[in-house]
Amino acid sequence: MKTYLHLIILILLCFSLASCSTTPARKTPRIELDAKSPKQILDLFKFIKKSDSKIAIEKKIDECITSRPFQVMFSHYNRSWNPNKLPKDSMKHMILSLKYEEAYKGHEHRVTNFMKPVWEKYYTNISLFEKEIDYLSKIDMNTLISNALNKANELLPRGVLIPDFYFFIHPNGRSNGFVIKNSHGLDFFQLPKSKDGTIDKDYLEMILTHEIHHLGLATLMPPELYDTKENTALNVLSMPIGEGVANKFINNAPGGCTSKVDSTRKSYYSNEVLVGWSDYNKSENKIFNKFIDLFNRAFAGSLTKKQFYTEFKNYWIKSRNKSRPRFYFLGAEIMGVIYQGLGKNACLDVMKDPTQLFVKYTQALESNPTLKQRCPSIPRQTVINSSSLIFNPKK
Ligand SMILES: [Zn+2]
Repeated sequence: MKTYLHLIILILLCFSLASCSTTPARKTPRIELDAKSPKQILDLFKFIKKSDSKIAIEKKIDECITSRPFQVMFSHYNRSWNPNKLPKDSMKHMILSLKYEEAYKGHEHRVTNFMKPVWEKYYTNISLFEKEIDYLSKIDMNTLISNALNKANELLPRGVLIPDFYFFIHPNGRSNGFVIKNSHGLDFFQLPKSKDGTIDKDYLEMILTHEIHHLGLATLMPPELYDTKENTALNVLSMPIGEGVANKFINNAPGGCTSKVDSTRKSYYSNEVLVGWSDYNKSENKIFNKFIDLFNRAFAGSLTKKQFYTEFKNYWIKSRNKSRPRFYFLGAEIMGVIYQGLGKNACLDVMKDPTQLFVKYTQALESNPTLKQRCPSIPRQTVINSSSLIFNPKK
């Protein structure tokens, strides 16, 4: 009876005290969903096909690329460390060249070169475009977003609140998903497809989870390569964390020297990405050594922020063939090792404080002989130096 009484008291306390809950409810962000853009571009394509007036077509293109989704897209491509990656004129002339091939000459840029065949595919196959808009209209986006929010929250430290955000789907042809400030863009042209051509909802939910996780983590580590302002060494340590977590836990990236987080699930990558990933695998020591060297130079004060951004642009964000950038692989390996050796909480600790990156990684290797044998190690002095830094994101 006494036991029962204790149980009843405990239950009553649990109803009255929030502290009884192991996972306190988090505030649900407000999401502004905007999926109008594909229809706008479809109408533009139809207009281009039927109109004989180049001036009228240009005006219509201007209307589209000055709409909110495309404005956000331009800010995504033209980041402060690479401000001319996608000039608006290049985009305009690429679209104009769907009818007037010569319009694009002299305006070629890497991003629009990549986009052009994708836009041509849909311009020359309007019925495919219409069919895919129809598939999109049948997806319950609210449920997908809600599931993605829950999954992203599971991988964020306590206290992190995913901010309100603008979520839009638009024809892009390059980045399949991105976040910038409080906006999340998703490429209509690269929505994941099932074998029957309809949209693969599980894959789409994974993309949403990945990007929403970035939005949440950005509240701890300000964007623009987690700019910690005064200290390049902190920037270097922060670089692999966000993509590392998102790729390892959400895309379920393969190893590397560390295994998949969930061996029962596939990795959410295209075959091209997987081929590049296994190439990275073969040069894992070299990639780690480059990263250690980058940190050592930053710590010694011989790497300015500008030099860091240049190296980021020329090496870390570059990908082998059509795979993901190198720093995604590096991050996935580091976070995978920490998870395998020390568990999820250690990964959450690193998200809260990047000065713990090498410390936890090294502890993870020490705790697991297999990892220690298979994975690159970090020099002792580098670990000591990294843990002497102070991370204060509020500054
Ligand atoms: Zn990402």
